[in-house]
Amino acid sequence: MAIFESNDRTMLLGFDDHAEPRWQMVPLSGFRDVRLSPVAGCTVFNMNPELADIEDKSLSSSSSVCRIRGKNAGSGTLLAVHAQGSSTLEYTVMHKKKIKVYFHFVHDSAGHRPSRPPADVKMLLDGANFILGHQANIWLEFTGVNPYLYVNRDLGAKVCMLNSVDSIYKPLDTRDALKPYDVPGAFNVFLVWSAALGLLQCFSVPGAGAIRAGTATECVLGDTARADTLAHEVGHWLGLEHDDYHGDALMAPGTVRSGTKMTKLGSIKANHKI
Ligand SMILES: [Zn+2]
Repeated sequence: MAIFESNDRTMLLGFDDHAEPRWQMVPLSGFRDVRLSPVAGCTVFNMNPELADIEDKSLSSSSSVCRIRGKNAGSGTLLAVHAQGSSTLEYTVMHKKKIKVYFHFVHDSAGHRPSRPPADVKMLLDGANFILGHQANIWLEFTGVNPYLYVNRDLGAKVCMLNSVDSIYKPLDTRDALKPYDVPGAFNVFLVWSAALGLLQCFSVPGAGAIRAGTATECVLGDTARADTLAHEVGHWLGLEHDDYHGDALMAPGTVRSGTKMTKLGSIKANHKI
């Protein structure tokens, strides 16, 4: 039986094969290709022509590509009818969502400082945009970098984003130490030496990145943070929880996460968050 598949599983095009039916993100004024196989005698119908145009829907070989061109934001359905029955693909046409991001390289009074160079900002930004842009049409806009932000206090060996629970450890409340340096209207990324969230991590495990839930407009990234760490923290900021524990999921907890795939629900929720 023919099914819809991602045209290129390595390219992170917002294809969620865990969703039922399978799902594809389509950028507004852009397009996504999906593969249908096998396709002998198969015809594709677009149930929502007001949302997208479908190209190459006349399929005759053993495998063919169907191009979905986004015209208006919203969720629609493709129906493939073939000799053995039918298959369904959901798609969501999404606006491009832009987020301004500002980077700060933190130096504290005890001599703690990040070991990565300011040039790493481009790597972090490009990598996070590859992940979030292709899967959720979310694009991080570079608005500036402060390569030397001096904070006149000892932030400790691990910079924690904590509540009162950490009061017997350093720092007492790192969030409040960094928040005054937030650039208004931007998501603020503080590059530090080691980041942590919560008592346990503060106590034992050097973390790559941390963000406080709720109204926080900043996150901290340690020296071991990768581009996908930044994408993960932006995901939290956009309201995403840890959604599963598969290592290939972007929103899996940091202790198990090694991948960058977004779910259908995560992609839609993140894109819609104001
Ligand atoms: Zn997380």
